[in-house]
Amino acid sequence: MRFQQTIGNKVSVSGIGLHSGQPTSLTLHPAPPGTGIVFRQTSNGSIETCPASIKHLHHTDLCTALRLNSIHVQTVEHLLAALGGMEIDNVYIDLSGNEIPALDGSSAPFVNLILEASIVEQPTPRTYLKIVRPITVECMDKSLTVHPSSLQKFSYTIEYDHPLIQTQTYEYDACPSAFQRDIAFARTFAFETDVEGLWSKGQGMGGSLDNTLVYSETELLNETGLRFPNECIRHKILDLIGDLTLVGIPVIGHFIAIRAGHELHAALATAIVENPDYWILLNTLEEDNGSAETVSPLLAQTTTSQTQPALSTQ
Ligand SMILES: [Zn+2]
Repeated sequence: MRFQQTIGNKVSVSGIGLHSGQPTSLTLHPAPPGTGIVFRQTSNGSIETCPASIKHLHHTDLCTALRLNSIHVQTVEHLLAALGGMEIDNVYIDLSGNEIPALDGSSAPFVNLILEASIVEQPTPRTYLKIVRPITVECMDKSLTVHPSSLQKFSYTIEYDHPLIQTQTYEYDACPSAFQRDIAFARTFAFETDVEGLWSKGQGMGGSLDNTLVYSETELLNETGLRFPNECIRHKILDLIGDLTLVGIPVIGHFIAIRAGHELHAALATAIVENPDYWILLNTLEEDNGSAETVSPLLAQTTTSQTQPALSTQ
């Protein structure tokens, strides 16, 4: 059995919002068992809260944004990936603005913040959502499926018509040490040809070579180069880990993504939450006790759910 985790002390960080270009800061606070990940903001003298839940998804246009009542926060995915990847269950995130700081465009600064705060085990068992029947969401040539698996695994493929990216596939078996080593440092990326269009829509206003890998038609513009030869596909898995935290509890399954993005990540999180016949809740994992849990024959059927999300065609 594993236990829920929070952080030991409050910690703060500030920076520029990737899309707003505005200064913004946040403080992580320890939270009691069962709290989950909850954004907080002081408004007119009272504290408003917005749980990190797919129910409060506002949009997935170039980032993941949440909204509940007066709280509106965008670009939550890299912070949420750090919390999910490091297995932090309960935390309050106090916001000064409406966007999470971009920092270096990866989750590594948030991982360092969590380690600075220290990770604290709490006296309540961790609950897992274990997938028992495959769920697929798809849109045109993009798809994302979660299959039953004893552990949380990811297989992600991207295909770009760019000589320095082309087709990249990466496999990742989730655990905090592997997250820190293989995923957390991977930065977000963009194409120079798209930048003007982003700015004209008021997006990417805080983007720079300090927080984004930028590709021209033939080369990478960041003089410091890549942190991994396949940094882009690692970042896509980072984004998926962050978006999946919106389910609210860790999802045990094998995620297979092909050309997916925030839209499909969110669509799958929604499909999981809305289809309880496709999963069971556990307080332990197979690796903890060496035995497979009992699943009813009905739930063990491998029926695929085809969910067709309404997606933009960008
Ligand atoms: Zn990202």
